[in-house]
Amino acid sequence: VRGADLNRPELIADGAVAVDAGRIVAVGDSTALLDRYDGERVVDASGRLVTPGLVDPHTHLVHGGTRHEQWGRSILGLPTDSLRDGIGDTVRKTREASSEELHRDLLGRLDAMLAHGTTTVETKSGYGLSAPAERRLLDVVDSVRHPVEVVSTYLGAHVMPPDFADRREAYVDQVVAQLPEARRFAEFCDICCDPVGFTPDECRRISAAAQALGFKIRVHGDQNGPAGGAEFAVEVGASSVDHLEYVSDRAIAMLRDCATAAVLLPGVTYHLMDLVPTPGDPTWSRPKHPDLAVKFRRLVDSGALVALATDYNPGTSPTLSMQMIMQLAARLYRLTYGEIWHLSTINAAASLDRHDQVGSLEVGKQADLVVWAVPSHELVINQFGVNLVHSVVKGGAVVHRRDERTALRDTEFWPEARPR
Ligand SMILES: [Zn+2]
Repeated sequence: VRGADLNRPELIADGAVAVDAGRIVAVGDSTALLDRYDGERVVDASGRLVTPGLVDPHTHLVHGGTRHEQWGRSILGLPTDSLRDGIGDTVRKTREASSEELHRDLLGRLDAMLAHGTTTVETKSGYGLSAPAERRLLDVVDSVRHPVEVVSTYLGAHVMPPDFADRREAYVDQVVAQLPEARRFAEFCDICCDPVGFTPDECRRISAAAQALGFKIRVHGDQNGPAGGAEFAVEVGASSVDHLEYVSDRAIAMLRDCATAAVLLPGVTYHLMDLVPTPGDPTWSRPKHPDLAVKFRRLVDSGALVALATDYNPGTSPTLSMQMIMQLAARLYRLTYGEIWHLSTINAAASLDRHDQVGSLEVGKQADLVVWAVPSHELVINQFGVNLVHSVVKGGAVVHRRDERTALRDTEFWPEARPR
């Protein structure tokens, strides 16, 4: 969904969804559907919003440790490790963690995502950066069994490991050499086309080898400087290019009507405080990216296929909640209710090549639904900081219910609510 259509969410008042064998068989008026179907089980969502499950198309869920110490210094403008050293710190902690710990933590993170309404998630390797360490991360993702569908991405080309700093070509060789093995686990190959990552020429070498093996491509593009990341992504027909803080005008024009999705990551903007001046910095009165909302507005209005994601990772976006991301997208990028819902459901699914399976409530699709504790789609974005999920249905099964002891009362949002 693109451009002005983003502001036309399709809403059904007093609606219902009929599900059979995990698939949606009808969507429409409650009374009509209750007449037509003799449901084995009826879930009463009276007074509540029901939406497609949220899709999170960019995360780094498998890692060891946190980076809260560096972050605590950086928000005060004190010297910290560079971003590269920041990722290096996570690489060290990830290599030290046992596979059992990584597996357990991954399950815990998926539980938290599900509880906040996410039913499909993409996750990347990339904190191993050696062939055996990357293989282990892909293995951990491959072995996980959880109601949230996990899409696996190989991100050997995340950053240049410090021990390869003067041997860049040798590291690219290593990434390319691992592609056949990684293909057994991963559907996508992500490449970081960024000043801290790889040059467009290095990226082209990796993408050509990956595409020859049947990988679809994702790109970390232009986060830390203009690097031609978005141009590279469009050129190779990538499924997505993510970040885009330094996206060029030329790339915005290229992304118009293009199949490559532009995935925006407001969790990073928020956590790195890109819109807030840094005390102590001589240029303190100017935030790093004062124009992000203007740039992303042009991207959305131009007709690009735009999506949202958490970019969950311990350094630059430690949130598992797509709800939080939707709330931030309004406040930081000034996107509208309708835009944000499309960007977090059907467009996020399209960036993962799953728009015919998930991301909207349509006949034939997987029955992935979120029942919200609020009566309208606007309230999910207007409120913030409290989990508004009532329950989650994945493939037709209720897989999560809120804890009634801690949940807000319905009357908070729906004054006419009466105990039933
Ligand atoms: Zn990322």
